[in-house]
Amino acid sequence: MNAKLPILFIGLFASLNVHCSLNETSSSANYGAINNSINKAEWTIIDSIDYETLNADITLGKPTMDVGVYLPSNLDPEFKKVTLERLLSGLEAAKEIYAPTGVQVNVLWIKTGEVDPRFLTIQANEVPGIPNTGYINLYKHSQRHPAELTEHAAQALEHIIEVEEDSHRTLYFVVFQDVFYPFLTVSEGRNWTMKTVRTGGLSFPSYSYPGTIPTPYRGIISLSNLERPDRQRRTIAHEIGHKVMNVSHEYMDISPEHEVYADGGLMVYGNGEEIPSGEEGRWHLERLLLSPYLYVLESDGRKKWNPDYQENGHYYDPIYGEFSIDFPGTPAIAEDW
Ligand SMILES: [Zn+2]
Repeated sequence: MNAKLPILFIGLFASLNVHCSLNETSSSANYGAINNSINKAEWTIIDSIDYETLNADITLGKPTMDVGVYLPSNLDPEFKKVTLERLLSGLEAAKEIYAPTGVQVNVLWIKTGEVDPRFLTIQANEVPGIPNTGYINLYKHSQRHPAELTEHAAQALEHIIEVEEDSHRTLYFVVFQDVFYPFLTVSEGRNWTMKTVRTGGLSFPSYSYPGTIPTPYRGIISLSNLERPDRQRRTIAHEIGHKVMNVSHEYMDISPEHEVYADGGLMVYGNGEEIPSGEEGRWHLERLLLSPYLYVLESDGRKKWNPDYQENGHYYDPIYGEFSIDFPGTPAIAEDW
């Protein structure tokens, strides 16, 4: 296993992408052209699900995140990797996995409807032009050179996700048949090559896409494979982790550039579900509790949201204060080049 592959930063199940350094007020203006050309999909809540029972764990006064799921009704018949049953079991598992942190996962709805077939498969981001050469770590690299959505991917989000007042605070799982993630890796010597990986889930996290996803859609998480039992159990919780902890694959003393298969942590590949705290735990719990996707429901029914990102949600965004780790980059090519 080549521990230096940038893919590890991205995630085998999951994680990342989109682009546009837009703030809330400019996003609709800059995407006006897309607004004019893309029809919105029509969605219906799947009402055979008993949402009250599903959310029986939710109690007042605890930090909570809202999750919605879009499950297209016109997936190709041969696509069987994500089903309603697997979605429900993954959502229930996510509730269990986050319960020890005191954070609640509130399932708003699962909706179904017909999606423009052009958008059943997307390329998540543009091929990056500048690889990380190791002078800085990957978080700082992404801050300088954010991942950018392809125009097609941006149109897909526009088509699929409904825009409401709290859209930019809501996690939207969208089932796609395939989501391809291109990245640069060393082929030999100082030469780089582009690969593209089919993702099982991609969280489009702020640390990779700071400011480059139109604000109402920044909560997008794609799901394309819940087939294996371990994926059914962990994928949804793991993808939520990329979004709400705003970290890549890392755990304790394992930085994102290093091997990410390990036991213990939710944010590395393995069977672990732990969300560690403290500096030795890379502040995962502390970062989770500061997430702009969390609110506390007040007695009058209003949602008291955490403060929003100050700098588009890059890994070192000021909202995290001291709760980030500084670490060196890892050179990807031979030193004598
Ligand atoms: Zn991941």
